[in-house]
Amino acid sequence: MTDDRPPVVIGAGPAGIRAAATLAAAGLVPIVLDEAPASGGQIYRRAPPGFTRPYRALYGFDAAKASRLHTAFDGIKGHIDYRPDTLVWDLRHGALHCLSAGRSREVAYRDVILAPGARDRIIPFPGWTLPGIYTLGGAQIALKYQGCAIGRRVVFMGTGPLLYLVAYQYAKAGGGIAAVLDTTPFAAKRRAVPGLMRAPGTFAKGLWYVAALRARGITIANGIRPVEAEGTDDAVSALLYRNAAGTERRLACDAIAFGFGLSSETQLADLAEIPFAFDPVQQQFLPERDIAGRTPVRGVYLAGDGSGIAGADAAELAGERAALALLEDRGHEVGKPRLAALERDLRQFAGFRATLEAAFPFPADIAAGMPDETVLCRCEGVTAGEFRRAARALEADEINRAKAFSRCGMGRCQGRVCGPAAAVVLAAALNLPPERIGRLRGQPPVKPIPMAVVT
Ligand SMILES: Cc1cc2nc3c(=O)[nH]c(=O)nc-3n(C[C@H](O)[C@H](O)[C@H](O)COP(=O)(O)OP(=O)(O)OC[C@H]3O[C@@H](n4cnc5c(N)ncnc54)[C@H](O)[C@@H]3O)c2cc1C
Repeated sequence: MTDDRPPVVIGAGPAGIRAAATLAAAGLVPIVLDEAPASGGQIYRRAPPGFTRPYRALYGFDAAKASRLHTAFDGIKGHIDYRPDTLVWDLRHGALHCLSAGRSREVAYRDVILAPGARDRIIPFPGWTLPGIYTLGGAQIALKYQGCAIGRRVVFMGTGPLLYLVAYQYAKAGGGIAAVLDTTPFAAKRRAVPGLMRAPGTFAKGLWYVAALRARGITIANGIRPVEAEGTDDAVSALLYRNAAGTERRLACDAIAFGFGLSSETQLADLAEIPFAFDPVQQQFLPERDIAGRTPVRGVYLAGDGSGIAGADAAELAGERAALALLEDRGHEVGKPRLAALERDLRQFAGFRATLEAAFPFPADIAAGMPDETVLCRCEGVTAGEFRRAARALEADEINRAKAFSRCGMGRCQGRVCGPAAAVVLAAALNLPPERIGRLRGQPPVKPIPMAVVT
């Protein structure tokens, strides 16, 4: 096979943009596919045409980085084959199935860099399907993209850096905040301080968000546990939670934004038949790759949060490194000192990730103890109790079997939303470690598409 088939990059976030720029600098014309209407990815999502908010208002401390990345992409746009509004919904035997403008087309590939990023990791709790309840990322997109808030009195609940960042962004934009409720006990954060100080810039930003929230008189509570969201079929009206002392509290609100960190978007990697392994730090199965982004499957490379959460700065480095690996494998000369520098920095980011996970641990106990009546899979309307009963009665100690018996994870989202929590529910119900339960296999379409496309 000749070298002239263009490499494909899936995703135009920080990882995909740096990958595309590196390939373009080497004289190649990569195809860049992204389901979003504009480049930038999650963190550097661009405002729609006609919106004129300045970078500082949109991206805060990251305004300069956003501007740099957007400029870099705009600079290569004429030298690459960029296809926005294009969802890659299947990947098979050298062909990508891409939905654009209501039609599916095949894009043949020889080399592909997967950079599809991440999504919110959630744990369902009683009442979480009421109108007015969003993920943290969803709440942020409403503000960043559409310039609107999800409510006038919003509870921010969960854990992770995004909890404080999104609450801060709402507060700064003048949004009403009922409280910020963190499931992480204060002691866990205090223990993580020495490690966090290894990335002083990131740590300082976190402290700034907390201080700015407190300065506005916003309550921040640590070590909480959600009990129930209350409301009607029309709207959520309160969050019932237990504080760190175990006392139940009711907080009136008209919206809730919640999330417990991020999960990598790994379905395309799965369809590419990359082997997965359980990552004890991130508590999820991740596709295997080396520091350069090479996978055991020839011609398939991984970069950015889609192969493990490491943040936007690491995603840029990983995108460049994966593109250089692709170039090396095609026989191009690449500068060894640059490879060494990228790999050194990527290792540092990976080390810091463990500290962040310790500072904001995934509260698996909430998922394990999910009340039976909680809707676990909202696509198929399966409760935690139904899931547990099906798994126990039919002796399903592997998550795909449990899915087949209960329909949990079989709906429109293909388990992308409920999957991580369902794995913990199953592991706890059967008294097994989470790595024994396995992972939901990726299935096409990786995101919902119209039936007409596949019939
Ligand atoms: C909702 C959300 C909000 C976030 N907000 C922040 C923040 O404010 N600050 C911060 O520091 N970090 C934030 N993060 C984390 C941050 O976005 C990531 O660390 C960083 O963007 C990773 O870059 P990436 O290129 O790997 O992925 P992303 O930036 O997520 O880019 C992935 C791109 O791939 C595209 N894509 C995904 N799947 C497909 C597909 N099947 N077909 C075609 N295109 C596809 C997406 O449209 C997207 O443009 C956020 C994460 C999420 C999920």
